[in-house]
Amino acid sequence: MSPWGAWCCEPMTGEGMDGRRTYFVRGALGIALYAMLVLAPLSLMLLPPLSAARTVLLESSVALAFVAAGVIGMQFVLAVRFAPLKRPYGVDAVYYFHRQMALVALGLVLAHPLLIFLDDPERLGLLNVFSAQWPSRFAVLAALGVMGIVGASLLRRRLPVSYELWHGFHATGAVAIIALVTLHVEGSGIYATDWKISVFLVYPALALVSLGYSRIGKPLRRRGRPYRVEEVRQETPDVWTLSLRPEGHSGIEFRPGQHAWFIIGRSPFSLEEHPFSFSSSALAEHGGFDITVKELGDFTAQIGSTVVGTTVYVDGPFGAFTTDRHPAPRYAFVTGGIGITPVMSILRSAADREDRTPMTLVYGAKSLNDLAFSDELDALAERLDLAITYVLEDPPEDWDGEVGFITREIIERATGGHQGHEYFTCGPPVMTAVVEGILVEMGVDRRRIHYERFDLA
Ligand SMILES: Cc1cc2nc3c(=O)[nH]c(=O)nc-3n(C[C@H](O)[C@H](O)[C@H](O)COP(=O)(O)OP(=O)(O)OC[C@H]3O[C@@H](n4cnc5c(N)ncnc54)[C@H](O)[C@@H]3O)c2cc1C
Repeated sequence: MSPWGAWCCEPMTGEGMDGRRTYFVRGALGIALYAMLVLAPLSLMLLPPLSAARTVLLESSVALAFVAAGVIGMQFVLAVRFAPLKRPYGVDAVYYFHRQMALVALGLVLAHPLLIFLDDPERLGLLNVFSAQWPSRFAVLAALGVMGIVGASLLRRRLPVSYELWHGFHATGAVAIIALVTLHVEGSGIYATDWKISVFLVYPALALVSLGYSRIGKPLRRRGRPYRVEEVRQETPDVWTLSLRPEGHSGIEFRPGQHAWFIIGRSPFSLEEHPFSFSSSALAEHGGFDITVKELGDFTAQIGSTVVGTTVYVDGPFGAFTTDRHPAPRYAFVTGGIGITPVMSILRSAADREDRTPMTLVYGAKSLNDLAFSDELDALAERLDLAITYVLEDPPEDWDGEVGFITREIIERATGGHQGHEYFTCGPPVMTAVVEGILVEMGVDRRRIHYERFDLA
């Protein structure tokens, strides 16, 4: 969901006012708890026993460092996929916030020593890890760690490393940083004395709980709820659908448009999990569902050779990219390439529900061969109040439809310039950003624009 379409301003569910109020209350409580935990270390400066008064620069430096400790301590909680925590906001909005708070932490971590050195330039010697005391060494290592982790995340796509290697470095680096920050604070003994020391132990404890939940609790739970691949279907030269059926349990309930994380053909404890949207109707009675995957990198390149009967473990559902959560008089979907998958789930579910809400689909693809589901979409247009505009970058000679990339003119032609639409856009990050820009330029309220980016980092 768009970070602009904030939880507080959105109709939150198709289940009526009660559901909406529940999300609102849960969301507000979550934010209050987050703010409290981030600011808890700072509040220690005001509570007895107080330290001896020092210069304003030093006190400000410690204040910034305490906020940094709170922000860093909470990053693990933001990153963990704990559905009840993420549901009020949407999983990508929480990841977006996680990324922004990492930048805030970096700024605070750099400002902390800067103020110390401004107060007394002789303290620059604290940077010498060979001669400095242990608390200063921990601080230098923690600051380098924060710089390394933020830098590697910002540059991830340009680094010659796989997503999995980056992810491993990110997680272990984060654990190391929390340990170093705790050791630095406890060792420095500034404000963190007496009973106050225990406050700083809350963050490593939260990180441990988050890690234990992700790496032990979840895998154990999903081990008892396996799925089997029932069918593998080719949709286009490089897009495949996997039909999954629950084995020994009733399956999960998802909303059309949501996604989950999948471990395919590996142990439930495997670190290799990939997010895919559900592409089938949410109303299937057998508890099974489809995912539709485009060959892209090392993992997805093999998806077409998945053997029927392969075991799959599922973590989900997640996501606020669902019409169920945003009731509206008419919907417009603007998708590019494999971004059609959650929209297929929304349209198939609408057909099963005999929903007659007016809908418009603008679906861009490279060529006719790359248009997945076009026959089924044309059939759905007959059953639903659905108008479809296909846009081909590289059309065949006899093509009389839209050509090129999705533009403002194409969207306006397709939607008839209506302002009452709730817009859903999904696809590669560049495409969703461009479409969001176009919609804002058209005067669409940001709260009516929802997007799913097929890339969280
Ligand atoms: C919410 C969401 C829903 C998605 N739904 C679909 C879908 O329905 N169909 C589809 O084909 N694709 C979908 N994707 C994209 C899909 O997850 C990636 O294409 C796939 O994980 C790439 O893996 P790879 O190893 O083949 O490619 P790589 O070359 O390793 O990765 C390509 C890019 O995909 C992302 N990626 C890779 N591995 C992961 C991971 N484990 N977790 C998160 N991101 C990762 C990274 O940004 C990476 O740069 C979705 C992504 C998200 C975030």
